[in-house]
Amino acid sequence: MMRVRVRLLLLLLFAGAGPALAQDTGTMEDKPLPPLEHPDSPSTPARELFARKTKPLPLAARSIGFYSQGCLAGAVALPINGPTWQVMRLSRNRNWGHPKLISFLERLADKANKVGWNGLLVGDLSQPRGGPMLSGHTSHQVGLDADIWLTPMPDRKLSREEREFMSAVEVVRQDRLDVDAEVWTHAHTALVRTAAEDPEVERIFVNAAIKKALCREAGSDRGWLAKVRPWWGHDYHFHVRIYCPPDSPDCKPQPPPEPGEGCGHELDYWFSAGVLHPVQPLFPSKPKSALTLANLPAACRHVVMAP
Ligand SMILES: [Zn+2]
Repeated sequence: MMRVRVRLLLLLLFAGAGPALAQDTGTMEDKPLPPLEHPDSPSTPARELFARKTKPLPLAARSIGFYSQGCLAGAVALPINGPTWQVMRLSRNRNWGHPKLISFLERLADKANKVGWNGLLVGDLSQPRGGPMLSGHTSHQVGLDADIWLTPMPDRKLSREEREFMSAVEVVRQDRLDVDAEVWTHAHTALVRTAAEDPEVERIFVNAAIKKALCREAGSDRGWLAKVRPWWGHDYHFHVRIYCPPDSPDCKPQPPPEPGEGCGHELDYWFSAGVLHPVQPLFPSKPKSALTLANLPAACRHVVMAP
């Protein structure tokens, strides 16, 4: 019980990647959100303001605040098609990030391709001005987080419709104790390892069953495993977080992960009955109180209010 409480506290403190319990589909409708009646009200949830900004703030790139409590100026978009990547769920307009994140993803797509992964299907990065979102994540707010599907890119350009409705393949076995041997390949391991070995990467979140598989398959060179941490969900995509960039003095770093590779008994908690089969959901479907602008760094007011 105590252990669970400590974990929940850590969860709140470090607000990792948020729950990703089912994969949402997108939409083909291009309908803008209705204007807010009282955008200036102090009680307006910040996510309502950030969700209505469809373009980045054209200033120098700057990640402001913490991964789960901040915003982003000077975002750039990951092009929706590259030689070894494609962006999914275009209707969400979340392929924006700090230029360091974009160059990391382009680099990873190329390197992963060389170790047997056909190409990246890229999920959410950040909104054009970062900030909290109407759906899906607690982090991804400062343009330094990215979700990458654990499904390799097909050999053709996906249609707009496929990018909205195609589902990633679940890689965790039904009993949640390991990966599904029918689906999991050495290329999956090579992909996560390639990401973890990039010096810009701060940490990676995967399902505990995936971490177990990575521990098993890592071989003798295991230093990279420390960056790969177990988290809820993350069974059809993994989440990569890069360090605060030097151009962003207001970016708040995350304390480093616990030392050690995090294999073996360190994973026991995640496979305990209370975590595998919780009596009540560990996460409410929506946070009880949404962040307002007052909860974010002061500079985020300008980032989201500027035209
Ligand atoms: Zn994520």
